[in-house]
Amino acid sequence: MAKPKKFPEQQQTQPGKESKMHPEPEVIRQNYKGSDKLKDKVALITGGDSGIGRSVAVHFAREGADVAIVYLFEDGDAKRTQQMIEAEGRTCLLIKGDLKEEQFCQGAVQKCVKHLKGLHILVNNAAMQFPKDSLEAIDVKQLHQTFETNIYPYFMITQAALEHLTSGDTIINTSSVTAYRGSDHLLDYSSTKGAIVSFTRSLSQMLAKKNIRVNGVAPGPIWTPLIPATFDDVSDFGQDTPLGRAGQPSEVGPAYVFLASEDSSYITGQFIHVNGGEMIGA
Ligand code: NAD
Ligand code: MG
Repeated sequence: MAKPKKFPEQQQTQPGKESKMHPEPEVIRQNYKGSDKLKDKVALITGGDSGIGRSVAVHFAREGADVAIVYLFEDGDAKRTQQMIEAEGRTCLLIKGDLKEEQFCQGAVQKCVKHLKGLHILVNNAAMQFPKDSLEAIDVKQLHQTFETNIYPYFMITQAALEHLTSGDTIINTSSVTAYRGSDHLLDYSSTKGAIVSFTRSLSQMLAKKNIRVNGVAPGPIWTPLIPATFDDVSDFGQDTPLGRAGQPSEVGPAYVFLASEDSSYITGQFIHVNGGEMIGA
C-alpha cells in the first residue's frame, strides 16, 4: 500500500502539480469520440485544473459543453486545461481561489453564469488529503482543513448554484472508494468522502421533484497529482485492485459524462464505482 508522506508543516496546503508528474496521466483516450451529449451545456467543475477534474472538463468539452474550472493556485495546470478545452472548440473560464471561503464559492458561481451564460452541470470535485497512520496523529488543525476543504464547499457551491439549475440539470459529486471500505491511513479524509455519499443521497431526494438529478462517482486508485503529492512510495499504487493497476483519469471522465447527460435520466442518488473491480455494497 502507498506510504503516507511526512508533511513539513507548510506543505499541508499544497496540492500537487500535474505538469510535474512522471509519467503524465492520460486525460482522455485519443479515440474517444464525442457525440454532442452535452451540446451547448455549461459546466462548473471544482478542482478542474488537474487529475480527475481536468479529465472531466476535457470530456465535457469534447461532448460540446463550455466549462468553468475552479482551482486553488496551480496556474500552469489550469492554463493547460484551458488550452485542451479550447482545442475542442469550446470556451473555458478559469476561476482561481479558495473554496473554503463562502464568498468565493458564491462568486465562482456568479462568474460562471455571467461569462458562460448559465449553468447546467455542477461537478463538486476538489479535495485534499493528509495521510496519517493513527487517530492520535490527526490534530484539530488538520481536521478542520480536511472537512473545510472536502465537504463544506459541496454545500456552499451547491447553495449558490441552485437558483440557476432547472429541470434536466445535474449535480455530480466526487467521493472515493475509501468511503465504502474505510482506510487505515485516511481516517479524516474517508470520513469526508462518506459525508459526500450521504450528501448526494439526501440532496437527490430534495431535488427530485425539480427533476434536478444528483449522483456521484467513487473512484479507486487513480493516477493524479494528489497521489505523488501525498504518498512517499507510489510504486505499488493500485496494484492491489482486481485489475492489478491504478486507473487513469481518462477512465474516470466518461462516468461523469454519463451522469451529466440525458443517458442517465432515470438515475439519481447513485454512485458509479470506477475502482478497478473492488466489490462495493450499494
Ligand atoms: P488533484 O489534486 O488533481 O485535484 C484536486 C484539486 O482540488 C486540485 O487541483 C486543487 O486545485 C483543488 N483544490 C484543493 N483544495 C482546494 C481549495 N481549498 N480551493 C479550491 N480548489 C481546491 O487530485 P484528484 O485525484 O484528481 O482529485 C479529484 C477528486 O477525486 C477528489 O475529490 C479526490 O478526493 C477524489 N479521489 C481521487 C482518488 C485518486 O486516487 N486520485 C481516489 C478517490 C477519490
Ligand atoms: Mg491541481
